[in-house]
Amino acid sequence: MYNTPQAELGRGILGRAYASLKCVKAARILIVCCLANISPGAGQAQNKPPQPDVFLITIDTLRADHVHCYGYENIHTPALDGLARDGIRFAQAFTPSPITNTSHTSILTGLLPSSHGVTDFAVPLAPTHPTLAELLKKNGYHTAAFIGAVILDSKTLAPGLDRGFDFYDNFPAHSQTKSRWGRIERRGMDVVQHAKAWMTAHPAGSHFVWVHLYDPHDPYEPPPPYSLTYKDRLYDGEIAYADSALGGFLGYLKKIGRYDHALIVVVGDHGEGLGEHREDTHGIFLYDSTTHVPLIVKLPAQPHPDQVVKTQVRTTDILPTVVDWLGIPVPERLDGASLKPYFDGAEERDRTAFGETDYPLRFGWAPLRSVRAEGFKFIEAPRPELYDLHADPGELANHYQASDLTVQKFRAMLAEVKARASTPLAVGAAGQGSSDALKALGYQGQSGGFSANAAETSRLPDPKDKIEEQNLLHSAMIASDDSRTDQARQALEKVLQLDPNSPTALRQLGELEFHTGDYARAAEHLKLVREVRPEDSTAAFYEGQAREKIGDFGGSRDALEASLKLTPGQFPARLLLGQVYLSLKDPKNAEDQFEAALLLQPKSAEAQQGLTQAQELQKPGH
Ligand SMILES: [Zn+2]
Repeated sequence: MYNTPQAELGRGILGRAYASLKCVKAARILIVCCLANISPGAGQAQNKPPQPDVFLITIDTLRADHVHCYGYENIHTPALDGLARDGIRFAQAFTPSPITNTSHTSILTGLLPSSHGVTDFAVPLAPTHPTLAELLKKNGYHTAAFIGAVILDSKTLAPGLDRGFDFYDNFPAHSQTKSRWGRIERRGMDVVQHAKAWMTAHPAGSHFVWVHLYDPHDPYEPPPPYSLTYKDRLYDGEIAYADSALGGFLGYLKKIGRYDHALIVVVGDHGEGLGEHREDTHGIFLYDSTTHVPLIVKLPAQPHPDQVVKTQVRTTDILPTVVDWLGIPVPERLDGASLKPYFDGAEERDRTAFGETDYPLRFGWAPLRSVRAEGFKFIEAPRPELYDLHADPGELANHYQASDLTVQKFRAMLAEVKARASTPLAVGAAGQGSSDALKALGYQGQSGGFSANAAETSRLPDPKDKIEEQNLLHSAMIASDDSRTDQARQALEKVLQLDPNSPTALRQLGELEFHTGDYARAAEHLKLVREVRPEDSTAAFYEGQAREKIGDFGGSRDALEASLKLTPGQFPARLLLGQVYLSLKDPKNAEDQFEAALLLQPKSAEAQQGLTQAQELQKPGH
């Protein structure tokens, strides 16, 4: 089960000689490993911290087949390759989720998305699920997390993910800059710099540090020289840059003497579609392009040079592996299991990899579930899919038949997972700010409109029929955040050609026209949103604002009333409705709205002024 990665060694006579030398060396070390009793903390010197440091580095949007040590020849990833040489490379590791906050929650809890419940942005992680940070902190670790994107910010989009961390490097609540850097995203080098500064300030004791490198996530904008070296393959350029940031962090650990005795895990949170199955980015589908990720584990003082495990494992196995290695009791109810038996060859069986995505629900499309086992992939969808992965690794020829025994077996496995699923906690108070951040990162759609457990999900459109729309919506969001308004508008209009009732496109177009000052067109689009999705209070609020701007006070009143009926606690909507009633020469109703606004913000001068005006107008003589 241990194989030398031939892809990187099969170059010329020198390469072959080196390869055979490495095989001999690897075999010798393997024997030593098998003879040695691999116990927690083995090999620790007296003057080392009581327990090995643990470093978890997650690299966002990292396809396994775009990393050099995974056989990709067109890229330099020396840090990942070096770590794989010092550790164990899992050639077949899978994430259960193709979307960032859900997949990271699975890494940090050892649970499937349906078990931990964080299946959408801003859903809080339930306190009943212990995180890796909590488990290590309880065992004396100093803990810190350094994130590369606001998508993992525990104050807005990832509440609860900071549990167990002494320090969690969130983004500033109010950013002064319009640039995406520092506002919604940090370059890998900056993330590493923050982590190094914290470690330098906290030198004592054992550390658990999580570093999240967001760079390979789109838009692909690597800094020089990667922007030049990889000018025709900017995604690869981002990976090469993220690798250099990883190299910076590992180099620092070596310099301060904390590398050799550390347990280091590097993993991708999900992959990237890159147009395969017509998916540009990630989140909608469960094909290998977005679920097959690199996973490298370097053990403390336990050289496993060039060891490769080819059996199928999961990112939910990371938490149980770390705590098992450290001798900490593994939490009882986990979906993952320790990978320790693979380290010494005691285990050789593939583990069943489940996949789950509820991201399509944000657009009103069916959620997907998958099982990857025994050389097959089954995807439960309105039009289900079955792939023979040996004959068809690209998952192109769908052999689904309801009578197929594999299908029936996999369906039964999915039913078991569903029976164990937890009910997600209500979406947190993710205000307009975090919603804007989501859009800036290219994610859109609305939460809370559909339920993943409802029987009607099977009647929702199949995401396979909607993926072109999603690609266009995604590029519109990125263009919009980048102030490329015309490109955003074109993409959204194309979506409406495909689906004239797309609430997501109508709302984005409405907001875009609103922000560019075309209030009449904005009001038209937003009115259509309200017809398709009457529960969308934000669209109604925008429509109310747009109609007020063009002097349609009656229309504005109706839209604002509708918005406030859905979400009563909106101060700006109350205030505006009061002003609209004044314009309609209805001071009694204006007074009610200003009073309600003052209940929400008692110190508001505008609301107070409005109230006084409304009361004056009701006095005799007016
Ligand atoms: Zn991600």
